[in-house]
Parts: sequence; structure tokens; C-alpha cells
Amino acid sequence: MGFCAPRVGLKCDYRSVLFLATVCHSGFLLLSCPAWQYLTVCGACWAHNLLPSSFHKGSFLKHLLRTFYDDRMSCPSGGYSPSGEKPASVYKDWVQHRLVKRVAFDPISIEELQTVHDPEYVQDVFSGEVTNGHGNTDAAVAESTRWTVGSMVAAAEDALDSGLACSPSSGFHHAGYSSNHGFCTFNGLMVAANRLLQRDEINKIGILDCDWHAGDGTDEIIRKSGLQDSILHFSSGFQRLANSRRYFVWLDEVIKTMRAAHVDIVLYQAGADAHRDDPLGGVLDSAELSERDRVVFEQFVAQGIPIAWNLAGGYQRDAEGSISPVLDIHRTTALHALAVLQEQQANHASWRQSFFHDDDYSGHRMDRATMDSIWKGREMFKSRKLSLNNFGFEQTYLNHLEGSLESISHTIMVNLEQRQHKRACTARGFTFVRPGVFPLPRYRFQATLGSPYPTATGDSSDYSRLQICWFSDEIGLAIDEMVFSVLGKVDWDATATNYDRYDG
Ligand SMILES: [Zn+2]
Repeated sequence: MGFCAPRVGLKCDYRSVLFLATVCHSGFLLLSCPAWQYLTVCGACWAHNLLPSSFHKGSFLKHLLRTFYDDRMSCPSGGYSPSGEKPASVYKDWVQHRLVKRVAFDPISIEELQTVHDPEYVQDVFSGEVTNGHGNTDAAVAESTRWTVGSMVAAAEDALDSGLACSPSSGFHHAGYSSNHGFCTFNGLMVAANRLLQRDEINKIGILDCDWHAGDGTDEIIRKSGLQDSILHFSSGFQRLANSRRYFVWLDEVIKTMRAAHVDIVLYQAGADAHRDDPLGGVLDSAELSERDRVVFEQFVAQGIPIAWNLAGGYQRDAEGSISPVLDIHRTTALHALAVLQEQQANHASWRQSFFHDDDYSGHRMDRATMDSIWKGREMFKSRKLSLNNFGFEQTYLNHLEGSLESISHTIMVNLEQRQHKRACTARGFTFVRPGVFPLPRYRFQATLGSPYPTATGDSSDYSRLQICWFSDEIGLAIDEMVFSVLGKVDWDATATNYDRYDG
């Protein structure tokens, strides 16, 4: 089966199909519509390679995201930045989504802060002689920095063993040797790097600072301490990244450089203020920001280079004034971290184990009547010109890796998007209907539909195929009912845009 080039006017054709499919539930009009032949994706049955092989193996994830959180990290700091109270908000959000495993740690000592900063400056901040990074002399704010820095240091040490650890902290990279600004008081990145460099086995540390602003404090301390050879510091804020394309070119180069230098660990600031809607940011949209995190985790953790990551900046607020847009971004980062952990665990796993502990999702068996009802729809296809070449369904979470439903759902969605994108480029595409709920419904369905009409290539051996995947909690419908109702939910605009790329 060859690849089918679309014709001009493709999108209009898709819309008319959508219209017909929506109006005519039976699908007969859909079949008689000449546009059907443009609904073409080529290739063999995709059902078996929809998900990476690791997903079919099943495995056991020992830990959720190891998160070094303590209530004492959070302290209202007043002023513009929400970062003082962000650790608590983020941690609460992650707990609600069942993403984290909390790990206890100690606050950093004043003496250790003084190994990186001017001892007098440190003393003055705690005594209230000079203002902290938030521009006040609040003793509680100063005290909270011992916990945020302690969290970063503990996460960094933990990552050496666990591969990936998180510190839900902010407020580091503008803190210089004896000065501060931009909501940063002490440089937790440098305290962590300094601690790690005491170990014999650590020769090189990468600091990947993807906060939108320049890591000037970090830079100053590195130079002052003469650590240029042992710390590779890259801060997107020093670059002129005018658009997302440049951003990813930069990121790619940085990752290559760090890997070539054999860094032993990466401290990653996953700043939310790189978002283009951030009042102090940024050029990336939500999908690009998500892609940034995916790339970073995959390029390092999956290659055996540990990452300790933290939150850094983020200043968006919703209409009610809450920081929910920032929470969304940090949650996505956490989900990507988990996805990479799960892949890694899967690659090491050699045995199957179901992760279901939750009664609601455990061992659901379909009764005979439901099965009959589903399969009855197969017969209905025989009376239509549309052929059902393939139909299958399975429990969405069955045999998947251990983790929360949220993290697995996220992994599945990211994977579907990637595959759709990949297939679009190689003309072996498929489409999936985005579920309106998250986590994903409990069943995943797939169908391959064929049309008897030749495709736009004019080659009489080419036939149109529509491969479609969707999720649902409902399983009692007949196949044809399901398929034709789901056709009305296909995102034709997005699909058509993808197909528009095949023009040669
Ligand atoms: Zn920033």
C-alpha cells in the first residue's frame, strides 16, 4: 500500500466529511462522500506498535517521584513573586495527583551557606542587616531559605543514587557571592554543586538553567570560586532566544555539550517563566514547554546521567489571581520526570506485574452480553461499503507500569502525540480522539476502516484507510455505533494540517 498525496482543498473536504459524519450517524453519507478518499493514512496495522514495547512488558516502579519537601520551605514573602509559598502549593498539587513520594531532609547550615557566599553577607541576611531576595528583612523568609537550599542539596545527593530527584524550590540563580536580587537570596544550585564536588567520584557538574532569566548569580560564584572547569553552566537567560525554534537549537547544543563533557549529574532549573504567557517571560507555548522537559529528562536520565531538578520562576496567574497556570506547568514537568522513570524501570524489568491496587480499576471482566453487543456491530459493517479491517480494545491501564493513573495517562498521551507526529512525517499516520477527561478512561479502542475508493494517487491498488484510536469508559455499544459516533469527534483540523504536509 503506497503513500497517498492529498489534493488542494483538503481541509474543506475534511470538514464536509465531518459534517456528514456528524449528521448521518449511520455512516452511509460518509461513505458516499468523495472526500472520503482523502481520509487516507497508509501503512500496516498499527495496533501492535501503538505503544513502545516497554509498555507491553509491564514492570514495577519502586518509587514515585522522589521529592524533597518540607513545610518549612514555604513562607509568605510578600511582593510580586509567589515563589515564597510555591513549594507548598506545588507539593499539594502533586499529592492530589498522586505523583510524589516525599523524602525528609535537613535544612542547610549557615556555615555551609558561607562556603559559597560571602560569610558576612550570609550573617547579615539572617540578622536582618541586609534585605533578602524579596526585598525585605523578614527573619522567617531568611529561615525558609535554609530549607529550600537544603532541599536542593538533598535532591542532588539523592539523584546520584536514584537517577532523578526533585526539589520543589525556587529563588537561587540571581543570588551572587555577596548580593541578591530577583527573589533569590542564596544560591542553592551552587551550594548543591559545592557539596557534590566534595565527593571523589564527582568531577563535572552540569547546571542547566531553563528559567527565563539569566543565572547571573550562579555565573558570578562560579567565576569567583574558580570552578569553571568542574561546573558547566548554561542559562537560557543569557541567550537571545527570540523564538521557540532558537530555543530548541540552543537546548540541543547544550545537551550535546554536557553529554560530550561527561557530566556526572545535571542540576536542572525547569523554570515556568519560559512560557510565552508569563508576564516576565518567555517564548514557549505550553506544548513546547512540555517538550522541553521531555527532551531534558530523556536526553539525560535515559542516558544514565542523573538529574536533580527544581522549579525556578513562574509568574502567571489566572483570572482569580491564583497561580494555577504555574502549577500546571510544574505538574507537567513532574509527569515527564515520571514518564522517563517508568521507561527506565520498564527497560530493566524482565517480568510482568500488574500494578492495580485500586479496586475501582482492578480486573474488570466483561460479561457475555456486553461482548455480544460489541461484536454484533461487526456484522453491521458487512452491509456497508466501508470495511472494518481491524478492531480491538483493551483496558487502558492493564499491564502498564506501576505509577499513578495520571502519570500513566500522561505517558500514553505523550506517546500517542509523538507517534501521530512521526507517522505524519512518514506518511504512516493515524489519528486519535482526545479524551475530554484526565486520567484516561478505562478502555482503549482502535479500529482500522477501509474505503473501496481508490486514493488520490490514482493508483488502483491504493485504497483509503482511516486508523483511529479512542478512549471510553463505555463498553456496551456495538462496534459500528462506537466507530461512527467517534468519527464525529475526530479533530479534523489538526489531522488535515498534518496531512497537508505530505505534498510530495
Ligand atoms: Zn526567572
